[in-house]
Amino acid sequence: MNDNCIFCRIIKGEIPSAKVYEDEYVRAFRDINPQAPVHVLVVPKKHIASAAEVDESNSVYVAKCFEAIAKIARGEGLENGFRVVNNCGEDGGQTVMHLHYHLIGGVKLSEKVV
Ligand code: 5GP
Ligand code: ZN
Repeated sequence: MNDNCIFCRIIKGEIPSAKVYEDEYVRAFRDINPQAPVHVLVVPKKHIASAAEVDESNSVYVAKCFEAIAKIARGEGLENGFRVVNNCGEDGGQTVMHLHYHLIGGVKLSEKVV
């Protein structure tokens, strides 16, 4: 955990958040600036700075994030689909340097990058 990291501080309970899901590996909470009716941030409970830092020592956290995404999507009523977004590094537009996945849905999403 990193004392200067907003998401580590949310996980530790030092900064409030609207919690959606939690298990041993993952914490999920609503984005403070939602871009869709459902916009949840799915965050590993280990400080991994970005997707570029994932390796075989920590990839279990990635797997657990995606297990959580499927559960949260069901809980949020996203049976019709959703989008998962990861911004990585400066060129990828990442602003919080703690790995996270944006789970976005609840509306027909239009702007596709890929
Ligand atoms: P990124 O730009 O790194 O992919 O995504 C960071 C996200 O974190 C943004 O969508 C931003 O709105 C969200 N965010 C930043 N600070 C906070 C916070 O303190 N609480 C919550 N719930 N979301 C935050
Ligand atoms: Zn962190």
